[in-house]
Amino acid sequence: MALPSGSISLRQRLAHINLLVLASAIALLTVLVLAITLWLLLQGRIRDGEMRVELLHDNLVASLSFEDYQAAQLTLNSLRTIPDVVYAEVVGKAGASVARYQRPGVQKWEQPVRFGQEGYRLSLSHIVFFRMARFDNQSLGGIALVIDLASLHQQMVWHLLLTLLAIPLALALAMRLQSYLLPRVTQPLNQLTALMEQVKAGRMDLRASPSGVGEFDVLAQGFNDMLEQVQERDRRLADHLDTLEQKIEQRTAELRHAKEAAEAGSRAKSEFLATMSHEIRTPMNGVLGMAELLLNSQLESAQRRFAETIEASGRHLLNIINDILDFSKIESNKLELEITVVDFRPLIEEVVEMFAQPAQAKGLELAADLPVGEIPLVFGDSLRLRQVLANLLSNAIKFTERGEIIVKLTVQNQPDDPDDQVALALTVRDTGIGIPTEAQARIFDHFSQVDGTMTRKYGGTGLGLTICQRLVNLMGGNIAVDSAPGQGSTFRIHLRLKITGTRPASAITATVEELAGINILVVDDN
Ligand code: ADP
Repeated sequence: MALPSGSISLRQRLAHINLLVLASAIALLTVLVLAITLWLLLQGRIRDGEMRVELLHDNLVASLSFEDYQAAQLTLNSLRTIPDVVYAEVVGKAGASVARYQRPGVQKWEQPVRFGQEGYRLSLSHIVFFRMARFDNQSLGGIALVIDLASLHQQMVWHLLLTLLAIPLALALAMRLQSYLLPRVTQPLNQLTALMEQVKAGRMDLRASPSGVGEFDVLAQGFNDMLEQVQERDRRLADHLDTLEQKIEQRTAELRHAKEAAEAGSRAKSEFLATMSHEIRTPMNGVLGMAELLLNSQLESAQRRFAETIEASGRHLLNIINDILDFSKIESNKLELEITVVDFRPLIEEVVEMFAQPAQAKGLELAADLPVGEIPLVFGDSLRLRQVLANLLSNAIKFTERGEIIVKLTVQNQPDDPDDQVALALTVRDTGIGIPTEAQARIFDHFSQVDGTMTRKYGGTGLGLTICQRLVNLMGGNIAVDSAPGQGSTFRIHLRLKITGTRPASAITATVEELAGINILVVDDN
């Protein structure tokens, strides 16, 4: 089983913990054993010393009573048989030293023995015992005995060495036991992990078996319960999916029917509108023709005014009917483009000329800004292009009170290959009321105007820009507006049309080189 990087196995962790606990226990035990051994050995030496001093006292009492100091010296000399005694001294009644024993072959005892309180004094290397000599409650002097601790030191060193030898042996044994016992602890966990891997790979029918270790059995039971639940959930999900698929199919079919019905309804409505508009147009043309004939006849001024109103209202109505007809055709997918050769220069000039009079009537300047050089001839629908441009110009004049309206054509690429497409940008810029940003996307929706007051103030149906957008899209192009309230609007059309060839610039245009050296006076307020 591969463990995530940075983590160690449970077995390793348990081994580390065991080792740490064992090492701490052994260290503590060693210190305790050595301390107790030292204390016991020391107590043994003290008891020995006290016994010896007592024995010496009993042997010396007679010599000291009769002041037979030679006998006292002989008694002291008998101490040579006891290797730990390095020095002994006896003082008489007057406190003067009367007999002394110094073990030969060891360092001479130089320190003066202070005969004072009875008992013993312990140092690192020796124990000094002192005992008053008495007989019948009479003080006869004192006895001092010095015992060397070198043998005790030696014994302690041996103990230490033996313990140090025992530690690695104990550790080795413990490690061996551990390597035998640890797998028994980790084995159930490994089995559970292996099982989990299999479940991860998709085997949901497996179950963990009890291992005999309480915690692992609880874990295994939890694992089994979890698998049961997952299986149950899978079963319910599969059932649900089945019904869901059926429901989706049913809903899709319903929606398809509803959509088809709605489309059929919309088509029927558009067809009806198209037929109706077409049917209305014929008598409308009759009305308009007659109104025109009436206006050309001899009329009194009031009659002329009435006839003019009939003619203006008729034209307005005809425009609305034309828009509805176009929109209905587009909606019912009946509108088809008539592709012919398009020559943009005369096309734009003619449309601009068409609007010269209404522009002049409002005191607006209307100009066409066309490229000086050649404009390629392209394939397109002249009639519809004319319609789009006329619509934009009509709006521009309608929504501009003062200033200018410029129609501009830019040829954005001049392809070398005659099979290529030319990119053209046609813009209509005005200095009118402008369009708020939030309304700019909306004005291309059908029957939509910037706000409700527009119809009252300027008239219109809200269909013009919708038709323009649909027509431009049909031609494979796009239309967008750039505007701010009070600062005018710029409608931009981008088209890519296939070129058919180029025609020379018209007779009255000349290149800059041709005009070099010629004096020209241009008078223009634009
Ligand atoms: P209509 O002009 O018949 O209302 P359009 O679709 O042509 O419908 O225009 C939709 C709306 O867009 C207009 O009602 C007007 O609010 C706004 N609009 C169009 N052109 C301009 C323009 N040049 N300047 C300001 N507003 C414009």
